Amino acid sequence: MTRAVLTLNAGSSSLKVALFGDSDAPLATGHADRIGPEGTLRLSAAGKALPVAMGDLTSHAGALDSVLATFREAFPGLDMAAIGHRVVHGGVTFTGPVVVDDAVLAELDRLSPLAPLHQPHNLAGIHAAMQAFPGVPQVACFDTAFHRAHPWVNDTFALPRRFYDMGVRRYGFHGLSYDYIAGELARTAPHLAAGRVIVAHLGNGASACAMLGGRAVASTMGFSALDGLPMGTRSGQIDPGVLLYLMTEHGMDAAAISDLLYKQSGLLGLSGLSNDMRTLEASTAPEAAQAIDYFVFRIQREIGGLAAALGGIDAVVFCGGIGENSRLIRARVCERLGWMGIEIDHAANAANAPVISSAMARTTVMVLPTNEELVIARAARAAIPTGGQP
Ligand code: AMP
Repeated sequence: MTRAVLTLNAGSSSLKVALFGDSDAPLATGHADRIGPEGTLRLSAAGKALPVAMGDLTSHAGALDSVLATFREAFPGLDMAAIGHRVVHGGVTFTGPVVVDDAVLAELDRLSPLAPLHQPHNLAGIHAAMQAFPGVPQVACFDTAFHRAHPWVNDTFALPRRFYDMGVRRYGFHGLSYDYIAGELARTAPHLAAGRVIVAHLGNGASACAMLGGRAVASTMGFSALDGLPMGTRSGQIDPGVLLYLMTEHGMDAAAISDLLYKQSGLLGLSGLSNDMRTLEASTAPEAAQAIDYFVFRIQREIGGLAAALGGIDAVVFCGGIGENSRLIRARVCERLGWMGIEIDHAANAANAPVISSAMARTTVMVLPTNEELVIARAARAAIPTGGQP
């Protein structure tokens, strides 16, 4: 019998899953997409597609049932010992993973207005899993938790204080990814982990985080996952005056502005072509080149700002789909950061090597594949009652 933990990452119309046994490599992974009438589900184990047991993909609960039916066929005798959930918002309360009970559920529900596009779906995933596995520990793991030790100046906006008290703060996100990278650095390069590190998580969502001795002190994302770097379809930093102008002069309401900032902006908006970096890199359109120029420039600016927050820099780490795979973006970001002691070894960069800085460089530059699922799985394992490991 395999004692297993399942990780769930529920989006608005998607559900990403990973099944772990007793090792850090998942037994199986999967992705349900377009949950609804045209839902699809792909699952794989050991690099091979698993034949999906027929199921209902019209809801998160249906998608989870289909995932579980497939896993039960592929892994007979599966014993689910705990389930871990990615939850985008833990507010100021949750500074680490927590086993879900009624009080936690109520608090997560209360936080939904702070992340209306994500939190309700994360909660739908938790409810679906509680229904499928009554009595099995459900562990919520938060994207905000890693940032809770930010000093006050990196936690607040310059608004009247009552707004801070009502929760208008710089929460920071991508915390599960940063937590994983901090752990990997501590394991593989403890001298760097103990110092001043900037991690650039560059994927379809993108942010950067300044860490001192493995703890976050500042992040480019703030109250929402919109701030900071431009992303696939999100604007990143924008002058709030632009939003006032769009409201007053163009009659845009909250829904229209939300759609603009979350879905139509970033690389997609600038290029008019795609949110996907591979497509932009392959394109000869000048707008694609400009979108890349803006992306690179904003990353350079933020790395400079975060280095100032740290009082210097010992290492930069790239992760996320772009950070881990795009030699072009890494090289372009680093090419104007020589003043920070950054210098790339181009052969190492082309090979996506773990260390891509030149031997003489003062600042180490690394590429570390992130693994948010493993952070969630470890937290879920830790919640398994008596008897310990699955
Ligand atoms: P993520 O959200 O972390 O899965 O990252 C998705 C982003 O990574 C997309 O913009 C992809 O185009 C980008 N990406 C993945 N592989 C590559 C690659 N080899 N070169 C450039 N960008 C890549």
